[in-house]
Amino acid sequence: MGRFRAVGVGVASLSVAALSAACMSGGDKDAKVDAARAKASNMAAAASEKKAETQVAAKAKANELGQIPVIMYHRIIKNPPPGDDRTPEQFRAELERLAKEDYVPITAAEYVTGKIGIPAGKHPVVLTFDDSSPSQLTLDGMGNPKPDTAVGILMDVAKKHPGFRPVATFYVIRDLFGMSKPEEQTQVLEWLKDHGFDIGNHTHDHLNLLGKPEKEVEEQIASGQKMVTSLIKFSPVTLALPYGNQPHDKKWAMKGSSAGTSYDFRGVFLAGYTPAPSPYTKDFDPVGIPRIRSKEKVGDCVKFCSTAWLDWLNANATDRFTSDGNANTVAFPKFKAPFVAAPFAAQALPY
Ligand SMILES: [Zn+2]
Repeated sequence: MGRFRAVGVGVASLSVAALSAACMSGGDKDAKVDAARAKASNMAAAASEKKAETQVAAKAKANELGQIPVIMYHRIIKNPPPGDDRTPEQFRAELERLAKEDYVPITAAEYVTGKIGIPAGKHPVVLTFDDSSPSQLTLDGMGNPKPDTAVGILMDVAKKHPGFRPVATFYVIRDLFGMSKPEEQTQVLEWLKDHGFDIGNHTHDHLNLLGKPEKEVEEQIASGQKMVTSLIKFSPVTLALPYGNQPHDKKWAMKGSSAGTSYDFRGVFLAGYTPAPSPYTKDFDPVGIPRIRSKEKVGDCVKFCSTAWLDWLNANATDRFTSDGNANTVAFPKFKAPFVAAPFAAQALPY
């Protein structure tokens, strides 16, 4: 029965094809000529569009294979102890510098998925905050961020610098911005989501995963994932490793499951100590993406923290990511072409 039906369909489509070939009249020929003309003019339009895109990219000195700073922040507090915390003034000054130097924030999720939609001539920067401390975000009774928190400062700087997007990624742990009730935890995560912020997984208990068995690594990451997904409709697409330490097999951090919750990240972030490669290059390795500590040039930060690296990126513009303003293309000077990653080859716009 099945075979008979298949044969029947074959005969039917054959006769339709034969009929249309036999009926080719003068009118059909004209239609064919018109179609060919339309195709040629579409191709010409595409070629001239590509030429225009190339000119825009060259004018912007676009280099979408260049490096991107992913800056790592912890607490934003007055009188911080020695370490990674920053004062509100230091944080504001760094944001002001980024705005003045034509950086536009994108989220970690946008970065790892290559969705970098910023204007021509601008440079992406990823702002990341670890450990979900109240100094990063505390909401008042009306749901407005307190002005001296990281989010309050970021929104204020963005208001003064149009085009400086107030977005960032928050790598959360079980201390959810100091909130203990699930309702309050939902309020703060929901607020972040509603305002275009990105929420990342920083594990549940912030244990050092170095040397831990696979089962425990997966349990820590999966329960961090569950914590977020059980409070709001949002699934983190990136992870930041506590202390930047990778587990024995670094792939355990990327994909796994525990107690019915699974995770499959698009990127895993470390703690140190260089700018990150463009997601469009062969150098991009989602299993271990470097970040930069926010700090002035003191101690080992003379070379390896944010002030030093922002100075370096300014001095080495051909190594820095500069956008062509077109999210559908990956534009770069022709010379850099061998570095394009295969998944983005079709979007390549060398000039
Ligand atoms: Zn941490």
